Amino acid sequence: MYTDHAMSCTFCKIIDGKIPSTAVYQDDLGYAFADVNPQAPVHVLIVPREHIGSLAEADQSQRDLLGHLLLAAADIARKKGLGNGYRIVVNTGEEGGQTVDHIHLHLLGGRPMTWPPG
Ligand code: 5GP
Ligand code: ZN
Repeated sequence: MYTDHAMSCTFCKIIDGKIPSTAVYQDDLGYAFADVNPQAPVHVLIVPREHIGSLAEADQSQRDLLGHLLLAAADIARKKGLGNGYRIVVNTGEEGGQTVDHIHLHLLGGRPMTWPPG
């Protein structure tokens, strides 16, 4: 899909192949790739092909898409052998620590997680 976002959004560029990435999973709705700055032995980002700025901008019309991505994350975790557990994070907005304005799920695993997060 060629939109304004495709020109300016880092993750739209990754989806379009304009920025290289290490693919982990893909289907018609989403794309998953290794985080360039991993915070755990397994750190995968799962994004919709459709540009959605953040969870705060999502609406009911995207309910199935978001559910699909969440289940894809669980599937990736299974395939990565994260049977002892993992963490899914959706940083949202400035105070939520979101730095790329294209909604994404972080899948983190392969080490014990602490709580609360920073
Ligand atoms: P956020 O801080 O928005 O929740 O997460 C953005 C994530 O995207 C960060 O973990 C960061 O390392 C990752 N990231 C930013 N730019 C790139 C990139 O060009 N390629 C990849 N693979 N990951 C990126
Ligand atoms: Zn985008």
